[in-house]
Amino acid sequence: MIASGITSMAKELRLTELAHGRFSLEEHAAHEQFLLKLLTAEISAREKRAEAERIKRANLPAYKSFEEFDTDFQKGVGAEELSTLARLQWIDDQYNLVLIGPPGTGKTHIALAVANKAVREGRRVFFADMDALMHILKTAEISMQSAARIKWIKKCDLVVIDEVGYLPVTNMEANLFFGLISSLYEKASVIITSNKGFTGWADMLGDSVLTTALLDRLTHRCQLLDFEDESWRLAHREQIF
Ligand code: ADP
Ligand code: MG
Repeated sequence: MIASGITSMAKELRLTELAHGRFSLEEHAAHEQFLLKLLTAEISAREKRAEAERIKRANLPAYKSFEEFDTDFQKGVGAEELSTLARLQWIDDQYNLVLIGPPGTGKTHIALAVANKAVREGRRVFFADMDALMHILKTAEISMQSAARIKWIKKCDLVVIDEVGYLPVTNMEANLFFGLISSLYEKASVIITSNKGFTGWADMLGDSVLTTALLDRLTHRCQLLDFEDESWRLAHREQIF
């Protein structure tokens, strides 16, 4: 029992002699407990380091949680739907999530709550707003940091693209955006937040053929949430005087 635990942890830690039984555990039976404790500590430290690294790479701009989200205020998503989103099974099933609505209605909040839970539960996540993402894509050839980020994005389980449609997009950017969505198709979940409904996307991307092809991939397995209510920011406005 202890021996098999030690062997499987040794495999995980790539301790080849121990993992493949070339180091006799029987000879050192008196120290089995010690070895078990040591390997357990090593694995848990490794997992912590991996989580810290994932959190760093996820690039989340703020902390938001599902618990903080008020579904009475935002009718675009119900309490039950929120808990389905929070269970994250849809990420493993590679569904996309598109949140559409005016500013201040909680789109980024939901995207961040999903991203935060996903990264803490072991998934690889990347978050960027459209503008930052375009910068990364455009500088991939000349910036090591951008190249590294793209490499990470391609390995991610969840990619969040916030604020699509706020800033105008050039023809080249529309192509890069399409290329990215295509490359993530059926490989990762994508969350997009936008102030524009799909009918406005052709105008935004300046190319109706490209937009049709993009929406085809994006919406093949996709949940769309429409946030139409008033702005939480305006309703909870804080003032100096
Ligand atoms: P959007 O991305 O739609 O512009 P945000 O998600 O940034 O809006 O929301 C603006 C602010 O209001 C954030 O601080 C967010 O946490 C808060 N907020 C918005 N909707 C809700 C809600 N239904 N419950 C709790 N906080 C909310
Ligand atoms: Mg937002």
